[in-house]
Amino acid sequence: MSLRIGIGSDVHRLGDGVEMWVAGLHFPDEPRGLVGHSDGDVAAHAACDALLSAAGLGDIGSNFGTSDPEWAGAAGVAFLAETARRVRAAGFSIQNVAVQVIGNAPRLGPQRAAAEAALSSALGAPVSVSATTTDGLGLTGRGEGVAAIATALLT
Ligand code: MG
Repeated sequence: MSLRIGIGSDVHRLGDGVEMWVAGLHFPDEPRGLVGHSDGDVAAHAACDALLSAAGLGDIGSNFGTSDPEWAGAAGVAFLAETARRVRAAGFSIQNVAVQVIGNAPRLGPQRAAAEAALSSALGAPVSVSATTTDGLGLTGRGEGVAAIATALLT
């Protein structure tokens, strides 16, 4: 069996008047959300990049042009489902994806199971979700944005 690992990351800026979507979940109580051409879901986007990396299919930018109107405002889970389709079409089987979200908000801990269910459902394979903060340091610690990093394993 041939194994292929991939890595991905993403960052989006926090902005006022934007809904907060992370890991396929809406956080309606968050006063700010992630700004982007799509819904800014850093967890889903990092997962897409990890999958494309493992498959040698480029990255989310080369697959879904950031100016393509077809993907304007698209949900992160829509990117993830289409990425999974392309990865499988290239002949790979998706074993699992692991995503870590880095930031002060939203608080993912209480919603971790729901986040894993949302992303796993979109991917059709297990996705684990974890979260961490950066002790007040850097762009995530200052509350300027939220980051995510992901790995994917294909066979
Ligand atoms: Mg992104």
